[in-house]
Amino acid sequence: MSSDFDIAIIGAGIAGASLAAEIGEEARVLLLEAEDMPGYHSTGRSAAFWEECYGGPDIVPLTRASGPYLEANGFLSPRGALYLAREEDELAIEGFFARFADSGAEFTKIGRRELEVIVPGLKPHWDRAIRQVRCADIDVAGLHAHFLARAKATGVALVCRARVASLVRHSDWYIKTAGCQEYTATTIVNAAGAWADDIAKMAGVAAKGIQPYRRTVAQLRVDPTPPSDLPLCLDISGNFYFRPEGDKLWLSPHDETPCMACDAAPEELDVALAIDRLEEATNWKIEAVERKWAWLRSFSADRLPIYGRDPALPEFFWFAGQGGFGIQTSPAAARLGAQLILGKSWDEVTDRLQPAIYSPDRFDRE
Ligand SMILES: Cc1cc2nc3c(=O)[nH]c(=O)nc-3n(C[C@H](O)[C@H](O)[C@H](O)COP(=O)(O)OP(=O)(O)OC[C@H]3O[C@@H](n4cnc5c(N)ncnc54)[C@H](O)[C@@H]3O)c2cc1C
Repeated sequence: MSSDFDIAIIGAGIAGASLAAEIGEEARVLLLEAEDMPGYHSTGRSAAFWEECYGGPDIVPLTRASGPYLEANGFLSPRGALYLAREEDELAIEGFFARFADSGAEFTKIGRRELEVIVPGLKPHWDRAIRQVRCADIDVAGLHAHFLARAKATGVALVCRARVASLVRHSDWYIKTAGCQEYTATTIVNAAGAWADDIAKMAGVAAKGIQPYRRTVAQLRVDPTPPSDLPLCLDISGNFYFRPEGDKLWLSPHDETPCMACDAAPEELDVALAIDRLEEATNWKIEAVERKWAWLRSFSADRLPIYGRDPALPEFFWFAGQGGFGIQTSPAAARLGAQLILGKSWDEVTDRLQPAIYSPDRFDRE
C-alpha cells in the first residue's frame, strides 16, 4: 500500500512552514501542528531582527544567504545595530573583529561623539561601539504567513490541533495524533522546535541533546520616547539588548535559562534585571512595563542547527536547533533543507553554505 504522503513535517513554526513552502511542489507534503494555529510558540515571540553576526560566524552564511529573499519580498525594514561597549570591553571589541573578520558581515568601530548622537541619553562610560548598518527589523508574522501561503499554493496539507502522539515505522511511518487522526508518510521531518528531541525519541531515533533556553523580553514606556530610528542596541558583553517598537522600547536581559519544552512565562527577576541594566546604560526614565513575555530558544550542544537525514534512520530528517536565529536564517535554511531532503544540487542561495557543519552525523563523528 502506498503512503498518504511522501513527507510529513512535524511543527508549523517558521522552520516547518518555510521547508513546506520549498518542497511542496515536488512532493506530497503533510504539515502537522499541535496548536490551534501555526506560530504560537517561538516563532510568534521573537524579537524580530536580522543581524548579520547574531549566532556566531557559522550562522553568518545562513543569515547573509537569507537577506536577498527577505529584502526582495519586503520583509526587512532598515534598523542598524550597535554593539555598545565601555573601556573595559576593548578586548571584546578586538575579539569581535577577529571572529567576524572573514565572514562578509559589514561593521565598523565608532567612538563616543558619533554614539551620543545615535543613542541620546546613553551614559558617558558607554563610549565606543561596533556599528552594523545593514541590521534590519523583520516582519515575522508576514514572513510566516507568506511561507504558509506558498506551501498551501503548492498543495501542502496543513492540519492544526494535530499533536503527534505516536510514530511507528514498518516500511512507512504510521503517524497518530492525540486526536486519533492517522496518516502514513515515507519520511518524517522533525521541525518541532523545543520538542525536537521528544519527537526523535518517539520515533526511536537517538536524541541530539537539543536544549530549550528561556529568553525574556519586556515592552517599556520610557521618557523620553526612544527615537524611531534608534538602532538595535546590544551590550557587547551580552547582558542586554533593546530596540524601539513604535513609540515603545523592547528590552531583554539576554537571559538564557535552561528549561523543559513548555509554554514559557517571564520571571519578575529577569524583567527587573533587564531594567536595572538599562538604567545603568541610559538616563531614560522607565514609566511603565506594558507587556512582558518569555519564550524558548532551542540549541544543540555546539549551538548550530541540525539539518539533514538521521545517520541511523535516513527516513527521519532533522530540521531543528534554530536557536536565536531561526527567523533571520529561514529562507536559506529552507532551501538547503529542501535540497538535502529531495537530493537536489546546491544553487545560488546555498552554494556558499557548508552543509556538513549542520549535519546530524557530526555528533557521531566526534
Ligand atoms: C524572545 C525570543 C527572541 C527571538 N528573537 C529572534 C530574532 O530577533 N531573530 C531571529 O531570527 N530569531 C529570533 N528568535 C528565535 C526564533 O524565534 C526561533 O529560532 C524560531 O522561531 C524557531 O522556529 P521553529 O519553527 O523551529 O520553532 P517553533 O516556532 O517553536 O515551532 C515548532 C512547532 O512545533 C510544534 N510541535 C511541537 N511538538 C509537536 C507535536 N508533537 N506534534 C505537532 N506539532 C508539534 C509546536 O506546537 C510549534 O508550533 C527569538 C526567540 C525568542 C524566544
